[in-house]
Amino acid sequence: MESLFRKEDFTAFIAKYPACPEELALRIYTSRLIGSSSSLVLHGGGNTSVKLKQKNILGEKNDVIHIKGSGKDLSTIDPDGFVGLYLNPLRKLRRLESLTETEMDNQLQIHRISSLSPDPSVEALLHAFLPHKYVDHTHADSILVLTNQKHGEAVVKEALGTKIAILSYAASGLPLAKGVIEEYEKHPDIDALVIINHGIFTFAEDARVSYEKMVYYVSKAEEYIEKRIQNKPLMTPRPDLAPPKNLDSSLIRLAQVVRGACAHPEPSGRLRRFYVETRPEPDLVNASLAKEAKQICRSGVLTPDHAIRTKNMMVYIESITENDEDLKQIVNQAVEIFKNDYQRYFQSQVKTKGIEIKELDPYPRLFLVAGLGLIALGFTRKEARIAADIGVHTIRAKLRAEALGEYSPISESHIFDMEYWSLQQKKMAGPSSLLLQGQVAVITGGGGAIGFGIAKQLLTAGAVVVISDIDNSRLQKVHSLLAENHDESRVESIAFDVTDYQAVEKGFAEISRRLGGIDIVVPNAGIALVAKIEDLDPNKLDQVMAVNLKGAFTVIKASIPIFKRQGTGGNIVVISSKNVFDPGVAFSAYSASKAGAHQIAKIAAMELAELGVRVNMVNPDAVFGDEKVSSGLWDLVGPERMKSRGLDTKGLREYYRQRNLLKAQVLAEHVGNAVVFFASDQTPTTGATLPVDGGIPAAFPR
Ligand SMILES: [Zn+2]
Repeated sequence: MESLFRKEDFTAFIAKYPACPEELALRIYTSRLIGSSSSLVLHGGGNTSVKLKQKNILGEKNDVIHIKGSGKDLSTIDPDGFVGLYLNPLRKLRRLESLTETEMDNQLQIHRISSLSPDPSVEALLHAFLPHKYVDHTHADSILVLTNQKHGEAVVKEALGTKIAILSYAASGLPLAKGVIEEYEKHPDIDALVIINHGIFTFAEDARVSYEKMVYYVSKAEEYIEKRIQNKPLMTPRPDLAPPKNLDSSLIRLAQVVRGACAHPEPSGRLRRFYVETRPEPDLVNASLAKEAKQICRSGVLTPDHAIRTKNMMVYIESITENDEDLKQIVNQAVEIFKNDYQRYFQSQVKTKGIEIKELDPYPRLFLVAGLGLIALGFTRKEARIAADIGVHTIRAKLRAEALGEYSPISESHIFDMEYWSLQQKKMAGPSSLLLQGQVAVITGGGGAIGFGIAKQLLTAGAVVVISDIDNSRLQKVHSLLAENHDESRVESIAFDVTDYQAVEKGFAEISRRLGGIDIVVPNAGIALVAKIEDLDPNKLDQVMAVNLKGAFTVIKASIPIFKRQGTGGNIVVISSKNVFDPGVAFSAYSASKAGAHQIAKIAAMELAELGVRVNMVNPDAVFGDEKVSSGLWDLVGPERMKSRGLDTKGLREYYRQRNLLKAQVLAEHVGNAVVFFASDQTPTTGATLPVDGGIPAAFPR
C-alpha cells in the first residue's frame, strides 16, 4: 500500500474547517486517510489522537488530547468525532495499580473539555500516556496475520525488523496503556509497537510521519506474507462438497430461513429481528467449499475488538437442501449448537472470573455456507454490513495466515473481557423503543402520495422500507425525498409491475437478497378510471382490475413462501378505499376492483392466521397529495370533479373536508399511521377494516 498524503489535499481540507486548530485538522485529514483503506481499519475500528495546547473559557492554556470518539468511523470523521480531554489528569492515572471499568469510564467522562463530545475511544489512556503529538492505531489485517501465528512474536520480528517493540496481549484500558508506555520507555527509539492479537501503534511529532510509518509497517507485513505464500495454495478443495444447484435462489431462501431462525423474543415479549447481508463473492464461495472452512469458523475473531460485531465464532453449514422444511431444520440445529456453545463460553468465563454479569444474546452473526458464501446479521442494517465486512476480512486473513504458518486462536478469556466491556457494548444498538425496529416493510405504489405517506410513517416507526412502483421516475423521486430525512440505509426502492406475478416474485427475491426477508407487506398500488358503465371500455376495466385487484393478489401470494421460511409471522395491510362500502357514480372499475382486493384480504386473513400473519385493511378517502408528491388518483379524478362542482383545487379539498363528520383533511400520513398501528401488533386483530376518512356514515364498516 502507498501513502495517500497530498499537501494540496490537506490545504483544501483545512479550508473546510476554519474554526478547527490546524493540528487537529491535520489529525482529521490523516485519520480519514487511514479510514479510507480497508486493509488498515474497518468501520469504527482503529483510533487516532493529537495532543495540543488549547485555551479554555478563561483564556488559560491547557494540554489537551483529542482522541477519536468510541465507534466513530475514521473514513468520515470530522471535528465532532473527536473528544478533547485534559491530558495531565489522565496521565496521572498511570500511578494506579488497577482501575475498574466503571471508574475508567468516569475518569474519561469528567476530564472532557466539552460535555457535548462523544465517549472517547477505549484506548484513550494509551494515547495519553505516549509522549508523541500524534498517535495512530489500527487492527490491520496483515499485522494480525503475523501476530496470530503460533510463534507470533518471532514472526513479527522477522517481518518488521528491529525498530519496533512487541507486546503480548493485554486487556485494553489501564493494563494495556501501562504495558505500552513501559515498553516504550525501555526503547524510546522505536517507530512502532505491535500488540499480539490486537494491532499496531505508530507515533511521531508530525501527523504525516506517524501515518506514513503505519503505511510502511503494514506494507512491510503484506510483502512479507505475500513472498512466503505466493506459491502455496490458499485452500484445499473438498471433492465431497458440491455447491447447491440454484445458487441464487438457494442463497435467498437460506437468508430468509437464517433470519427467521435467529429472531428471538426480548424480555418485553416483542420479537427482536435481524437484518441480513449476503456476500457471495467467488473467493468466499471457494473458501466455503474448502477443507479449511470448518476451522475458519471455529478459530474465532482476528482481534477481540471484533467480537462485539461478529461474536467469536461463525456457524458453518456444510450442505443445504431444496426442501424448505428440511432447510429450516438444518439451520435451526446449527443455531441451537451455536447458542449452546455460546452459553457454555459465557458460563465458564463468569465462573472463572468470579463475576456477575448479564448474558448478551447468544445468537450468531456470521454463517459460512458451503457453495453460497457468507451471510451476516445485525440488529440494524449498519450492524449487519459491519459484521459482513469483518467476516469477509477475517476469512481472507485466516486463509493467508494458515498458508503462512499455523493460525493460533485468541483465548476465550481475552475475547470475553472485550465483548463484555461496557465501553465496547455502548457502540452497539440496544433494544429499540421503536415499534418496528428490525422489520422490513414493502409498499407497492410507493411512487404515489399515499405510498410516500405510508413510507414516512413506517420509517419513523423504525422499519427498513422498500418502496416499489412501476413508474421508475416517480419511485426515484420519492426515494430521494425519504432518504433526505432518514438514515439512507433504511430506504430501498425497486421497480416492478404488480400485475406480473413473476416480476413480483423476482422483486421480493431481490428484497430478500438485500435485507434477508420481508415482515410487512402493503399492497397499495392502484389506478383510477372515471366512466359510467355505459361508457366503460371493457379493456380499460381489465387494466384497472389487473392493477388494483390482481396486483393486491400477486403481492400477497408472493409473500407467503417468505413468511413460511421465516416463521416469524408478519403483517399484510391492504390499502383499500372508502368506495368499497360507499361507491360512487362513474367509478365502477375502481370501486369493484378495490372491493375485490378487500375480499381477497379477508380470505388471506383466514388462510394465513396459522402462520401468524395478520391481514387488515385501511380504507382512506380523499387523500390529496402535496406539492412534493401528487396523488395519481386525484391527478386523474380532480379536474373532472372540480369542473362538475365549479371548484378550484383549494375548493375541492375544502369540499371533501366538509363532507366528513370530523371536518378533517385526510393526509397520506394518517393512512401511514393506520398501517403502523396494524403492523405493530398492538391488538390481536386480523381481517379488520380501519377507515381513515374523517367519518363517513355511509362507509362505516359492517
Ligand atoms: Zn485496538
